[in-house]
Amino acid sequence: MANHMLHGGEFLLKDSDAQDVYIPEEFTEEQRMIQETVRSFVDQEIVPVAERIESLEEGLVPQLLEKIANLGMLGTHMPSAVGGSELDYVTNTLIGEEIGPSGSFSVSFNAHIGIGMLPILYYGTEAQKQQYLPGLVTGKIKAGYCLTEPSSGSDALAAKTTANISEDGEYYLLNGQKMWITNAGFADLFTVFAQVNGNAFTAFLVHSAMEGVTTGAEEKKLGIKGSSTRQVFFENVKVPKDHVLGEVGKGHLIAFHVLNTGRLKLCASVLGGAKKLAEISVRYAVEREQFQQPIASFGAIGSKLAEQYIRCFAVESALYRTSHLIQLAEDQARASGVDFSEAKQDAAEEFAIECSILKIIGSEALDYVVDEAVQIHGGMGYSEDGVIARAYRDARINRIFEGTNEINRLLILSTLFKRALKGRLDLMTPGLAVEKEITSGISEEGDVKGLFTDEQKIVRAYKKILIMLLGTAARQAMSGKLDLKAEQEVLMYLSDLILDIFMAESVLLRVQKQHALNVLTGIEEDLLYTFINDCNHRVRQNAVNAIASFVEPNMQSAYVQATERYTSYGLKNNTNHRRKISAYLIARLRG
Ligand SMILES: Cc1cc2nc3c(=O)[nH]c(=O)nc-3n(C[C@H](O)[C@H](O)[C@H](O)COP(=O)(O)OP(=O)(O)OC[C@H]3O[C@@H](n4cnc5c(N)ncnc54)[C@H](O)[C@@H]3O)c2cc1C
Repeated sequence: MANHMLHGGEFLLKDSDAQDVYIPEEFTEEQRMIQETVRSFVDQEIVPVAERIESLEEGLVPQLLEKIANLGMLGTHMPSAVGGSELDYVTNTLIGEEIGPSGSFSVSFNAHIGIGMLPILYYGTEAQKQQYLPGLVTGKIKAGYCLTEPSSGSDALAAKTTANISEDGEYYLLNGQKMWITNAGFADLFTVFAQVNGNAFTAFLVHSAMEGVTTGAEEKKLGIKGSSTRQVFFENVKVPKDHVLGEVGKGHLIAFHVLNTGRLKLCASVLGGAKKLAEISVRYAVEREQFQQPIASFGAIGSKLAEQYIRCFAVESALYRTSHLIQLAEDQARASGVDFSEAKQDAAEEFAIECSILKIIGSEALDYVVDEAVQIHGGMGYSEDGVIARAYRDARINRIFEGTNEINRLLILSTLFKRALKGRLDLMTPGLAVEKEITSGISEEGDVKGLFTDEQKIVRAYKKILIMLLGTAARQAMSGKLDLKAEQEVLMYLSDLILDIFMAESVLLRVQKQHALNVLTGIEEDLLYTFINDCNHRVRQNAVNAIASFVEPNMQSAYVQATERYTSYGLKNNTNHRRKISAYLIARLRG
């Protein structure tokens, strides 16, 4: 990795330079053309048949997958050897974002290109790649992923499906039941996880046409009703031994690695959905009049429009920053001779913490945006005749699949601690420096230069708060005073701090870079000040909650004082900042 480039998770310990981050304002002409192609596809091919998709019309979604494959969109992340176009990570993220507003279709699309195709790209033998990937790229083969079972969801490795080797050693006999399988109604190929000899968790490539594979009825869901979700049953299915994916007993690697990329892709899609809903909300608020005025002119509504925009901006900043980092890591691996699929997989694993963060902040931002979209639309937001009610129902799943948001919060911390123990992340050095500051009561601000020095200082201070708490928690855990597994609330406070640090820093770096590149809309300061101001309250609250939960009583007041010092930020008039943002959104709509 280049010297100035941070490793995964390292953003918590070190500063980043604005010139090293990627921002959406840097999209190239070619990326904008691809964006336009996908946007037109959604507008022309998906929106007009949305009702038919929702009613799960037989054959429609598979047909649409083939249509989008004709535009090359199922293979943009695949090697040219199998018909893919090897587009960079940022462009793939942009495609995901544009697919997002297609609701149910985006779920089927993402399942196919993500959890459907990636296991084969990452872990397939050359023969398996050649056999399946070309058909998956053209959409001739459709894919699904069978991990979850009735009794094992978050605890996925506790799956009960069995795969026992036959007496002649030629095939495995697969028996079991999978649940909540996306694309199950039409998929030709499943990656199925099962226990070999009772406890060797292993992945298999299973054709839906194999004897003994059946599916249940379509699940009746709260939302994404147009995406096929069924149970899949395996009864004495003879799976040839060359259908093992990866190694016997190494299925957990496949299950976990595939999800890193899946989480980033989910963030891209939910961001696309949220941005669309925010745009629709502005339009409605401008057109809808009450008391002889557009409702957008009421502060109560204008501030919601501004907040929708701010939350999307924060997620977008974090998403493209991470996509670019993954691409850099991938480029570097490839330059040192690592092959295409391994480089992709390793780069995503390096940024696993950031991928989990994106999954959480994206899905939670969407839920905020869609909820306020309903509110802004009033009764019309509650009507099934409009698009908002469906979006409201569709949004909810995103906090549940690809690892629930609770599981992702836990993962952020466990990955961080594991990396610290392995020496991949140095928590110790900054930890000692912060401890010195707490005991002396004097904060070292360090060098800050350029624009937004107050904001640079405060983001740095948030990291100190986190390091202070992480260090204390780790010390107490090692001495047996704190059982972190039994104190999940503490882990939730800490992971929420991490989410805010990543978002606040991403917003700050983006705004700094916008200034450097002179690509400004005029509301950057308003966005930054409002975000940091609100973030500050959350950081303080989470820190104080954590301190009260586990810091030794004799140290609590020093920790609280340090938190107060670190989060001191000048008074900002958020009312005015939000008014400026909503005025900008209204003016932008009117062109
Ligand atoms: C529409 C839809 C499509 C899906 N598509 C697929 C697919 O294609 N393939 C596939 O394999 N799966 C799929 N899933 C399954 C999905 O990944 C799981 O629903 C998800 O992982 C959660 O598992 P669960 O539903 O069993 O919930 P549970 O694991 O029972 O969780 C219930 C609640 O408990 C919490 N919880 C669980 N364990 C812990 C813990 N250790 N600490 C704290 N909180 C915890 C969870 O966060 C959650 O809030 C899909 C699900 C849905 C609804």
